[in-house]
Amino acid sequence: MLSDRESARYSRQMMLDGWGNAGQEKLKSARVVVAGAGGLGSVILLYLAAAGVGRIRIIDSDRVDTSNLNRQVLYAGSDIGREKALAARDRLAALNPDIRVEGFVARIDDDNVSDLVGECPMVDAMDNLHGRLALNRLAVARQLPLFHGAIYAWEGRATTVLPGKTPCLQCLYQGVLPGQPPVAGVTPGAIGCVQASEVIKYLLGMGDLLAGRMLLYDGLAMKWSEMRVRPDPDCPVCGKGAPR
Ligand SMILES: [Zn+2]
Repeated sequence: MLSDRESARYSRQMMLDGWGNAGQEKLKSARVVVAGAGGLGSVILLYLAAAGVGRIRIIDSDRVDTSNLNRQVLYAGSDIGREKALAARDRLAALNPDIRVEGFVARIDDDNVSDLVGECPMVDAMDNLHGRLALNRLAVARQLPLFHGAIYAWEGRATTVLPGKTPCLQCLYQGVLPGQPPVAGVTPGAIGCVQASEVIKYLLGMGDLLAGRMLLYDGLAMKWSEMRVRPDPDCPVCGKGAPR
C-alpha cells in the first residue's frame, strides 16, 4: 500500500498510461543494485530514488574528489573525501525517505560480486572493464538483466543485456575501455537517464527495451543513433561452449 505522502510524491508519474497505482507498487517492492556511484551512477541513482524504487544498493570503492564534481551531481563540495557509496546513500535518503538505500564500500571483482549483488537486476555504471565483466558474468549465470552504459568525452552508449535473449557484455567488449577518459559533465547525464529509463520500464513491464540494440549518443553533433548487436556464438560467457 502506498501512503498518502507516496501517492502525492508519485502522482505525476502514476497518471501515465500503464503506470498507475499498480505500477508504483511494483517499483516500491523492487530491488536494484547500482554498481558505480560516479557520473553515470549519480544520475541513475537520483532518478531511481526519485521514482520510488523501493530498495537500492550502491556499490563503489572510491572517495569523492574535487575532480568528480563537474559531472557527479550527487555530491556537494562538503562530501570531498567521503566514501561515495555512503555519501550517495545519505543524499538519496534525504531525497526520498520512503525508500531503503544501502551503501557498500567495495570494488567489484569475481570473488565478491555474487555476495554484493545477490539476486537483483543490476546497473553497470562502472568505469573499469574488469568490474563490468565480473558483473556481466554474474548476470549471465543468474539470468538477471544488466543495464549497461559507458561514456567518453562527448559520446556515450547504452544497451540492456537480457541473458538468453541478447548479447552479453563479453560479446560486445573484447578490447579495453579507457580508464580516466576526458568527460563533458553533461554526457553521463544523457546516458544515465537512458539507463534509469530502461530500469524503470523493465520493472514496470512497459515499453521496448534496448535489448539487442546499442544506443549511441554524440553530444557534439547532437545525434542519437543505434546499431543492432548480436550474440557471439563463441562467447566464453554466454556462448555454446560456456560453462553453466
Ligand atoms: Zn556473450
